[in-house]
Amino acid sequence: MTFEELGLKSEVLKSLKELGFEAPTPIQEKAIPHLLGENSDFVGLAQTGTGKTAAFGLPLVSKVKENVKIPQGLVICPTRELCLQITKDLQSYSTHLKINIVSVYGGTDIKRQMTDVKRGATIIVATPGRLVDLVNRKAINLQEVEYVVLDEADEMLNMGFKEDIDAILNQTPDWKNVWLFSATMPKEVAFIAKKYMEDPLEVSIGHKNQSNENIDHIYFVVKERDRYAALKRLIDFNPNIYGLVFCRTRIETAAVADKLGKEGYSAEPLHGDLSQAQRDSVMRRFRERSIQILVATDVAARGIDVDDITHVINYNLPDEIENYTHRSGRTARAGKKGESLVLINTREGYKIRQIEGKIRTTFVKGEIPEPKEICEAQLLKLVSKVIATEVKEEDIAEFLPPVMQAFDGLTKEEVITKFISAEFNRFIDYYNRAGDLNAKAGADREDDRGNRRGRSDRSDRGDRGDRGSGRRDDANKTRFFVSLGQRDGLNPGGLLRVVCDSTGLKSDSVGKIDILASYSFFEADNELADKIIKEVNGAEYEGHKVNVEVTTKKPSGGGGARRPSGHRGGGGDRSGGGNRRSGGAPRRDGGASSPRRDGGSKRRRN
Ligand code: AMP
Repeated sequence: MTFEELGLKSEVLKSLKELGFEAPTPIQEKAIPHLLGENSDFVGLAQTGTGKTAAFGLPLVSKVKENVKIPQGLVICPTRELCLQITKDLQSYSTHLKINIVSVYGGTDIKRQMTDVKRGATIIVATPGRLVDLVNRKAINLQEVEYVVLDEADEMLNMGFKEDIDAILNQTPDWKNVWLFSATMPKEVAFIAKKYMEDPLEVSIGHKNQSNENIDHIYFVVKERDRYAALKRLIDFNPNIYGLVFCRTRIETAAVADKLGKEGYSAEPLHGDLSQAQRDSVMRRFRERSIQILVATDVAARGIDVDDITHVINYNLPDEIENYTHRSGRTARAGKKGESLVLINTREGYKIRQIEGKIRTTFVKGEIPEPKEICEAQLLKLVSKVIATEVKEEDIAEFLPPVMQAFDGLTKEEVITKFISAEFNRFIDYYNRAGDLNAKAGADREDDRGNRRGRSDRSDRGDRGDRGSGRRDDANKTRFFVSLGQRDGLNPGGLLRVVCDSTGLKSDSVGKIDILASYSFFEADNELADKIIKEVNGAEYEGHKVNVEVTTKKPSGGGGARRPSGHRGGGGDRSGGGNRRSGGAPRRDGGASSPRRDGGSKRRRN
């Protein structure tokens, strides 16, 4: 099928030509003709990377009336990053139309967004919290909205936006059409579909809850203490990797990125403790490919929408199985192939089986590459780089005679061998001393019993953490007192919104919430305490100033002792801040940088 056959406006077809879109993807083929029709309620089960933005975006820009200033289209999505991406995409589809697309999202100046909306918005692309805020301030009128798109609906519900979505949909006219897109179909999403849609067309690309078929899922079993060394091998074995490494916590993310950076890899961290400006800068450099590897938490990586990611590496698996789908869905976009690699220790095999059951996909057990294979891969990369190098004869001509003279007497083979040795000796030395990292069943248990060494390896979420005791989690959480309660109209969604909008954190950073009559409590990881105190204090909730303090201990049922004002909580855990490196990531052009940067004496033998 062609785009012309789908019934899109000629102006939109013109933009598509300019964008180089030749043929519709399967979700576009199924969705577009229906969405262009009269009663177009729609449920699309599709992963990111399938072309779903254009599946709703093309009919949306085709259907809204031009030169009208009151919003007719509304796209709601979970994150700022996605919001900006969708806006950019819709603008690119409508370059030949007189429509205005405005994005509104939390964590940034609301006044400017109010001015943007006031100037006239045909389509609004919004995150739920900020949209509710703007509607409450009467800055956005949803009475004329004809089409509401809920993008990544499962993500929005995971993030606690259900109340906000209800509030928004209730402000829109009854006769609107709702187009819902979701990667998975948990019952909460099915409930929204039932409540707000009339006889929707349901289209599924792949099975429900199934992940993209173009992704190879491969897991590697290593001893807990070899997790980091195994990560490096996976990266070294794929010299052209353009990848995302997922960690479970901000601290682990910062530590892994820092170690990789120090060892010469082009790697940078992305986590919630970076300012918005820092995150934007990291993302920009990753998109431009001046960073090869992004080490991220699930929360920070939400909505990352970058094409051509070759590998997603799960340094540690997420607690929530759904997050695995979101992680792996960052690769194999737009019909391309990709690999999702998982490192597990010898006690974590059950986690693979859980994921297999949930997303109906099969993992293949992989072997951490042997040193010889890695050296070969690196050497071949160097060779292909040398072969592809453009020779600027005129520029180098004057330098060549002394160089040629220096090589006089050496054969071609000897020259090549010497160049390769000069570039690779340290790399080869490192891998010559490296052993097999593939672990046998029970290896971690044996380590626990017999091995009193290797304490430092626990910084990579060591063996103790794998037992997952509840006590460990509790010690990692800080409980906050909030000066507002039910009497001030505060509810869990409202509290989440205040915390997330003021800090840029995602709602799953916030744990248990207790809303009491005149004050409230919530929990978050210790390392977020400083940020929360600094950025939430003084925020506004429906006209009330919000005051947040750290409580000294956990209450046994709602209450909680407050720390004296001014005491900053979180155990002073800012040491991780040292991981924010200034300056660019070290370059890794030569391919063999890991051992090159890492002095042999410091290296633990594998
Ligand atoms: P999405 O699933 O919307 O995030 O889209 C994934 C990527 O595929 C984006 O870079 C789109 O620009 C691209 N894309 C979407 N539809 C098409 C198409 N029909 N032809 C070529 N590229 C497309």
